[in-house]
Amino acid sequence: MRTLFQFNGGVHPAEHKQESSTQDIACAPLPTQLIVPLQQHIGQRAKPLVQVGDSVLKGQMIGQADGATSCAVHAPTSGRVSAIGEAPVPHPSGLPDLCITITPDGAEQWVERTPLDYQSMSPTEVRKHLRDFGLAGLGGAVFPSHVKLNLGKLAKVPTLILNGAECEPWITCDDRLMRERTADIVAGAKIMQHLLNADEVLIGIEDNKPQAIAAMRAACADARFEVIAVPTLYPSGGAKQLTKILTGKEPPSGGRSSDIGVQIFNVATAYSVARAVLHGEPLISRIVTVTGNVDQPRNYEVLLGTPVKELVALASPRNDTQGYIMGGPMMGFTLPSDAVPVTKASNCLIASSPKLFPPPPPALPCIRCTQCAQACPVNLQPQDLYWFSRGREFGKAQEYNLFDCIECGCCDYVCPSHIPLVQYYRFAKGEIWAREREKQQADLARERHEFRLQRIEREKKERADKLAAKTQGSKAPSANAEADPKKAAIQAAIERAKLKRAGVMPQNVENLPVETLKEIKEIEARRAQLKQAMEKQPDTPNS
Ligand code: SF4
Ligand code: SF4
Repeated sequence: MRTLFQFNGGVHPAEHKQESSTQDIACAPLPTQLIVPLQQHIGQRAKPLVQVGDSVLKGQMIGQADGATSCAVHAPTSGRVSAIGEAPVPHPSGLPDLCITITPDGAEQWVERTPLDYQSMSPTEVRKHLRDFGLAGLGGAVFPSHVKLNLGKLAKVPTLILNGAECEPWITCDDRLMRERTADIVAGAKIMQHLLNADEVLIGIEDNKPQAIAAMRAACADARFEVIAVPTLYPSGGAKQLTKILTGKEPPSGGRSSDIGVQIFNVATAYSVARAVLHGEPLISRIVTVTGNVDQPRNYEVLLGTPVKELVALASPRNDTQGYIMGGPMMGFTLPSDAVPVTKASNCLIASSPKLFPPPPPALPCIRCTQCAQACPVNLQPQDLYWFSRGREFGKAQEYNLFDCIECGCCDYVCPSHIPLVQYYRFAKGEIWAREREKQQADLARERHEFRLQRIEREKKERADKLAAKTQGSKAPSANAEADPKKAAIQAAIERAKLKRAGVMPQNVENLPVETLKEIKEIEARRAQLKQAMEKQPDTPNS
C-alpha cells in the first residue's frame, strides 16, 4: 500500500460532476465551418502551410511547428481553406489571433495514416513525430508534449505520473475517457514510459471517480502501473500537488518536476499519444464537457476548430444563459463570445447564468484573518501578495514568490471579505511581464546603439590609419624602408646596381646601409662634374 502525502490547504467546492458524467461520450456532428487557430499551445505559433482556396484532407498538416517549443496544427476534416486571418479565439485577453478557416466537404477523407514502430525508432525521431502530430498537454496547460518527453542530459526520469485527478468542479471529460477508452490511455503511458526510460508509472485519480479507478486498475494489471485513489480535495490535480501526494516530493520554488525525477501528463494526453503513434492520427479532436445552465449536459468528442456556439447548441442552453466559462469555475475564464472555436485547451464549457453563478458581493477591506494563507496549496501568503500587488510593489511581490502562485483560486474561495485576490495576482504578473519585455527591448536598443557607435569609431580609425600610412609612405620612403627590412634590402640592392653601373665599387659595399650608398653616389657624381669642368678649361702659360 503506497503512503500518500498531503499538500497544504485546499478547499472543497461543490463538485457538480454528476450532471455530465452519467452519459457516455457522444460524437459532435461536423460543424458548418472549422476555425483552427495556429496558436493552440504554449510557445511559438505554428507557421501556415496552406493558402486560401487549397483543398485539404482530414489530418493534413496545415500549420508547421516553428521553433523548439511549438507543435503542428492539422485540418480536422477534409474540405477547402476558405480564410486565413485574424479571428476571435478563446483567450482571457479577448484578442483575436491568426486562424485557418476550413469549409468541410462532408467526405471526411483522411490523409494516409501510418502507425509508428516506436520501439525500433530513436527517441528523437519519436519526439519529432509527436511534434508533427500536434501533441500538447490536454489538461489545460497545452505545453508541447515532445518537449516534456525530452530527457536532455538525463539518463532517465524515474517516475512518470498520469494525472487523472480532474479536481475542478463541473469537469468530467477525463472521468469518461478513463472509463471508456482505457486501453489507449495505458498504451500511451507505455510509449511515454519508453521515451522517459521511467522505472514506475503512477496514475492518480480522485476517489470521487470509482468507475474510472476500477476501469484503469483492470487495464493496468498487465502493465504493472499503479492506479492510486487520492482524496478528493481541490486542487489535487495541480501538477505539483499531485506529485506531492503520490511521491512526497516537491519541486523547488521556480523549478520543474523533472528536477526531482518526476514527469507528469494528463490522461487525455496519454490517450492522444497512443492515437498518434499506434494509429497515425494527429491531434484533431478532444473530449469536451458541456455543462452548467443547459438541459442536456454531456461529454462530446469534438473536432478542434468547432465554433463554441454550434457545440453548446447540442446541450440545449437555457434562455437565461448569459455567457460561457472555458475550464472550471475555479481556474477557467469567461469567453469573449461564443464565436470562438474549441481548441486543444478546451476541456470544459460551462453555460453560466445569474442563478448558477451570482455576481460576488462587493469586496470589503482585508481583515488579516489569514484564512487565505491556510487554504493556499503552495504555502504562499496571499494577503501579503494582495497588498503588494495592489500597491504596485511588484519587486516585493516577486520576493514573496508571486510566480509560484498557480492561480487556483482557493484564497478567493475562502476570503470572507470577497476580495478578488487572483485578479490582483494576474494584474501583477502581467505588469511584471510587460516591464520585463520593455526592459529587454530597451536593453536590445541600447546594445544596438553602442554597437553602431563602436563600428563608426572603428571605421573612422581605420580611415585615419590608412591616410597616415599613405602620407608617410610618400614623404619618407627610406624611413618606411628602414621600418621594413625586406624593403630596405631591395633598396640597397638597387643602389649597389646603380654604383656598379657607374663603375664605383667601394670596399664592403655589400654591407653598407642604403643612406651611405646614396652619399657615395652623390660624391661620385660631384667628382665627375668637377672632372668635366676641368677638362673644359683653356691651357695656361705656366702649365
Ligand atoms: S482571507 Fe481575505 S480578509 Fe482574510 S487575510 Fe486573506 S485577503 Fe485578508
Ligand atoms: S491563487 Fe495563488 S495565492 Fe491563492 S491560494 Fe492559489 S496558489 Fe495560493
